[in-house]
Amino acid sequence: MAHPIAILSGLRSGRLLVTDVYRRTSKGRIEWLCRCDCGAEKWVLRINLRNGTVTSCGCANRERIATIKLDPAEKKRRRYQRTRRWIADNKERNNATKRISRARRIAADPEAARERWRIKEAKRRITKGPEWVAEKQRKAYLRQREKRLEYARQQRLAVNPEMRRCLYRESYKRRKEANPLQWQEKRRQWRENNRGLVRARNTARKAKIKIATPPWVNLAEIAAIYQNCDDGYHVDHIVPIRGLTAEGYRVSGLHVPWNLQYLPEQENLRKLTRIQPEDPVYGINIRRPRI
Ligand SMILES: [Zn+2]
Repeated sequence: MAHPIAILSGLRSGRLLVTDVYRRTSKGRIEWLCRCDCGAEKWVLRINLRNGTVTSCGCANRERIATIKLDPAEKKRRRYQRTRRWIADNKERNNATKRISRARRIAADPEAARERWRIKEAKRRITKGPEWVAEKQRKAYLRQREKRLEYARQQRLAVNPEMRRCLYRESYKRRKEANPLQWQEKRRQWRENNRGLVRARNTARKAKIKIATPPWVNLAEIAAIYQNCDDGYHVDHIVPIRGLTAEGYRVSGLHVPWNLQYLPEQENLRKLTRIQPEDPVYGINIRRPRI
């Protein structure tokens, strides 16, 4: 048999008047619907009514809190605590907001921002001492160093195209040696994507050699030179088929046995089509033909 329910209808607990409606909570406890003097309705556990722990819908508490006069120091402390808690909970967002508002402030008046920074920095320098300043300067120096070196490099390149070509070749070589397989694959892909260009270049190269080959030359002799080329060596034209003399005149060597020489591979790749002081034909007076 169910336990008889004590009927609390019509009783009061502070501001609450118990109505005749009750229900069981999910845990089997009984709560009564109460009407507060302020007009609100509230479900209150029977135990709370019996013990007198709940005496209003919550309005009494709100009123009490409103009337309490905190002393200013306590008020400030609580506000500070709230702020600290909020900052801790929203660190990421706060930082983002801070960054944005800071950027905005600077953008609005860069001169004032600079001035603010100058004052702040002066204060820091005084409070943190000379060691701190020196350390900061050292760090700044290191940060700027790379930039300065790069700038100087660009300046050199701007006035000296020969140097530019040389540096480019160096970095090309470095990258190639660092990862030969990847390099090979990249090269293969490039050739595949630029088939037309590759074909055009090859054709041009062949045509260039063909034009430079006189009809009376002994082709077998040239073939022998190519066949006898050791590994690691290239067959090179002493006077380039299309190149420049050291003075900058255009020159066109022939594809004949006596214009061919063996050159170490690396040296040949490094060689320019402009005749250099170490080349055997350097200094021979080649002039632009009269038209
Ligand atoms: Zn109330």
